[in-house]
Amino acid sequence: MQFYTQQKVVSTRWFGEGVGDVWKIASTMSLLIKDGEIVTAERALHRRYLLRRRNDHPDRSRISAPSDAEVIDATGKYVFPGFIDPHVHIYLPFMGTFAKDTHETASRAALVGGTTTLIEMICPGCDEKPLEAFELWLSKAQGASACDFSFHMGVTRYDDEAERDFREIVRRGVSSFQGLPRLQRRASESAMSNSTRRSALAKSLGVITTAHCENADLVAELQKKLLAEGKTGPEWHYWSRPPVVEAEGVHHLMTFAEMTGAHVYIVHLSCEEALREAMSAARSAASTSGWRR
Ligand SMILES: [Zn+2]
Repeated sequence: MQFYTQQKVVSTRWFGEGVGDVWKIASTMSLLIKDGEIVTAERALHRRYLLRRRNDHPDRSRISAPSDAEVIDATGKYVFPGFIDPHVHIYLPFMGTFAKDTHETASRAALVGGTTTLIEMICPGCDEKPLEAFELWLSKAQGASACDFSFHMGVTRYDDEAERDFREIVRRGVSSFQGLPRLQRRASESAMSNSTRRSALAKSLGVITTAHCENADLVAELQKKLLAEGKTGPEWHYWSRPPVVEAEGVHHLMTFAEMTGAHVYIVHLSCEEALREAMSAARSAASTSGWRR
């Protein structure tokens, strides 16, 4: 996956009150964080960490800072690697509304929380060209984001022209496609065929298929019933899509993964029932043929 790294220097408080104060991205200066406890996915280490422009390298315990380095004493503090938020919405024209955030505000908020990379979803309209949408989303982020970013490519149409665009978008560094619920959940002939083609293309290009999983037909039925009963307030949103609806959507996606061999990732997973479906499919794939790549 290619990440788009910003070249401007941005400052934000990183460790919280009382410790140093700046985290410089792509700075020309080196930064030495010393004597902190480095936390990784596996363990915590007591090391020093030297960050250089385009060349980070951890430690070694006797590291010494170049004369121009900025030094932060992190004694008694934890030092985390930059987090990756794998699914965000920032520029979001959706059903006549827009998200309030901009890349400037969203990326600053991310950095304050320790997240240094965002993966945003591109959501084109059904009649828009994928490559044009990619260029539009990229233009919103470039020069405005204070942290690294990449994209999931939303697949809202699928035809020969779109497929050519998807190939180009992957060549430009995007490594995941996302089906939108209205396409992925309806078991109409054309939607099924498009889902299969999308998954097959993802498989052939080695990219991940991501999906928001809900069964649209069941949601539509429940919505009709609630409307007929005059239950229109936001408190009824949950009842229009209870856990079983999400669990069924996950099962549906996993069936596609099994059929096409596509590598899948579920976004917005929100309940135990849906998680169980995902875990069960992963276990079954692992026990029969290994997790498909
Ligand atoms: Zn989302």
